[in-house]
Amino acid sequence: MIVVLKQGVTNEEAEHVVLLMEKRGLSVHVSKGEAQTVLGLVGDTSGFDAAAISAHHLVAKVIRVQEPYKRANRLFHPRDTAVDVSTDGVVHRIGGGTLGIIAGPCSVESRDQICGIARAVKKAGAGFLRGGVFKPRTSPYSFQGMGCGGVDLLAAAKKETGLPLVSELMEIHQLEVFDEVDIIQVGARNMQNFNLLKELGRCKKPVLLKRGLASTVTELLMAAEYIIAGGNERVILCERGIRTFETFSRNTLDISAVPFLKQKSHLPVIVDPSHATGDASLVPAAAKAAVAAGADGLIIEVHNDPENAFSDGEQSLTPPAFASLLEELKKYAALEKKTL
Ligand code: PEP
Ligand code: MN
Repeated sequence: MIVVLKQGVTNEEAEHVVLLMEKRGLSVHVSKGEAQTVLGLVGDTSGFDAAAISAHHLVAKVIRVQEPYKRANRLFHPRDTAVDVSTDGVVHRIGGGTLGIIAGPCSVESRDQICGIARAVKKAGAGFLRGGVFKPRTSPYSFQGMGCGGVDLLAAAKKETGLPLVSELMEIHQLEVFDEVDIIQVGARNMQNFNLLKELGRCKKPVLLKRGLASTVTELLMAAEYIIAGGNERVILCERGIRTFETFSRNTLDISAVPFLKQKSHLPVIVDPSHATGDASLVPAAAKAAVAAGADGLIIEVHNDPENAFSDGEQSLTPPAFASLLEELKKYAALEKKTL
């Protein structure tokens, strides 16, 4: 249940209403907007008399939330959430009118590779560097990632370019070696690893949460809810394609999930056109579609030598292809009134 307080209600008055709700055994999430304060009630509100609360002189209206997710719900938090990361005093943003571009290889392979790609994507206009070091691979015989050694190479690329780092972890103890990583990626295969989500709720870093291969958007929002309920509100949702009967592409980009997620949630929504299509020739069109659909950002695989990449070469853009895509994307971003 959401309780919207009247305009001009002071902090003390809002606190008074919060205490009233807490006395009834509910926990209250307070969201202060510029003009209005919104209270999200968490707990069993079934026995609650909405009419009685609406009658309170400080309350503007009471809304019953139908969806099972609360903290991720836009009703709870009407304004867009933006996720900021600072490196060297520079703020890098995803959401809130800024199109965040995350680019880099699927896997970190060597110092020259990651530093070279980092320089190229930065020059093209990317705001974040991606690079996997713990790789969830379908086959146990495929390259599994460089592990901790790869993190040092990512750190070197960050030092050189100032780009914040995005990298995936599969187990919570890997957080111990992720000091230099700025945004923790939870991959599609781990979207419903609830213990991992709970642990990341206690973590101070933003989480990039990818939609599971066969998960509904409600399940994605419930996964985000786990992280937020644990105390970490900095969650970025990612549509990365889902399994369908179609075989021409690696996955099927669910483009309408973008406006739907934006309607339902205040969290930033980004799109991964690389894993969605699995084909570098399809990535630019999918990326443009994502921005036109209202995405707050993109995560794109870029490799200097796709043919010899250790993983996902077929879907990786070369640095020149990435640079020309970003040039084109500026037009789309401008139409959506977003800065790139
Ligand atoms: C990746 O980003 O390299 C990756 C493995 O993504 P996903 O979890 O979406 O498959
Ligand atoms: Mn990949």
